[in-house]
Amino acid sequence: MTLQEKDCQYLWHPYTQHKTSQTPIAISRGEGALLWDENNKEYIDAIASWWVNPFGHSNKFIADAIYKQLTTLEHVLFGGFTHEPAIKVAEKLMEILPKNQQKIFFSDNGSTAVEVAIKVALQYFFNKNEKRTTIIAFENAFHGDTFAAMAASGISFYTQAFQGMFIDVVRIPVPVKGQEDASFEALKKAIENNNCAGFIFEPLVQGATGMVMYEPEALAKLIEICKENNVLTIADEVMTGFGKTGKTFAMDYVDADPDMICLSKALTGGTIPMAITTFTQEVFDAFYDDDINKALFHGHTFTANPTGCLATLASIELLQTDEMQNNIQRINKRHLEFQKKIQNHPKVTTARTLGVIFAVEIKSDSEESYYGSMRTKLYNFFIENGVVLRPVGNIVYILPPYIMTDEQLQKVYKTIEEAIEMV
Ligand SMILES: *Cc1c(COP(=O)(O)O)cnc(C)c1O
Repeated sequence: MTLQEKDCQYLWHPYTQHKTSQTPIAISRGEGALLWDENNKEYIDAIASWWVNPFGHSNKFIADAIYKQLTTLEHVLFGGFTHEPAIKVAEKLMEILPKNQQKIFFSDNGSTAVEVAIKVALQYFFNKNEKRTTIIAFENAFHGDTFAAMAASGISFYTQAFQGMFIDVVRIPVPVKGQEDASFEALKKAIENNNCAGFIFEPLVQGATGMVMYEPEALAKLIEICKENNVLTIADEVMTGFGKTGKTFAMDYVDADPDMICLSKALTGGTIPMAITTFTQEVFDAFYDDDINKALFHGHTFTANPTGCLATLASIELLQTDEMQNNIQRINKRHLEFQKKIQNHPKVTTARTLGVIFAVEIKSDSEESYYGSMRTKLYNFFIENGVVLRPVGNIVYILPPYIMTDEQLQKVYKTIEEAIEMV
């Protein structure tokens, strides 16, 4: 039996209708921006394996750090114990995060990082004896697949089976160009009409809905409105963090600091599942009390896994090298050149770029659904041509590893141009 045949027998894949979807491709090895399947067919990983892998597959520097930690202390429980790797990660993050972030809490993935932030926002007011139970979120947001994260997410078919079982969430429009005032007004109204505890947002780029972008000034204004009304703000940087937008964090563009930040995806360079939620001292202090009931009763077995911590430290070290920073700027420049070339194509509605993130919307007669027929055609075309891209409806986006060469990038661009001609 091939790996594909065995897979069909045993495995249940994420976001997959097994009856109608094609058999998954069995990948046997990866290096840099490239992947090879079991038949040795080569693919360019143009989305960094769901945005986790900035420094390339099978990175030796991170692997060595992991190996050394695995043979020193692979794991120890974090309740009642601590260790140097966790402390070093905290010290490193304090250097690079917005200055108001003072405390860090570990978990395992983007959804749990968000889950922790939302629970903290709700319990913050519970601890202060204030009744605030509503969370504000953007339309078409994506914050993950656990329950509170799902409640805050707005992509309907991800969540439709669970409607009516969620915490209270009010949704406001994203302040894309021309919609800023509508967004500000909706936020004010949401705060006026509900007991709002927190506002969660993907800063500057909404990833899963198709790389929808908006300006830092608009986000600063939304945060300001929240601050005036004592509503906690949560920046979900799970996708945008660690260089994707051209700065270390998307919040580095914004003239206002959030109360909490969620990190995962590129945190460990795509090696070990890990996530972090960070907080201001003021948020932490609302849980600091003689009363045990005011503590945050949340944790995960693998909290602050030392191996993941070393992968994090190695990744941040790589990110901060001149070489990697130059790579980010180089890819941004190439994207802008490609954007200029493609945006006037008769079959293109619009194209946009921020940092290493690029997205192009292809014209279509009907409303393209997330996993619709145009999406399937595009996806299959890319795979046939050895490029891993996962379009969202009629939106094709690139989010490459930072080490992707110009030659590889040009192949990705060329394949997208051919795909646009094809559909
Ligand atoms: C991917 C993502 C999540 C969820 O992360 P998982 O690790 O898949 O649970 C949350 N928020 C944003 C912005 C994301 O892109």
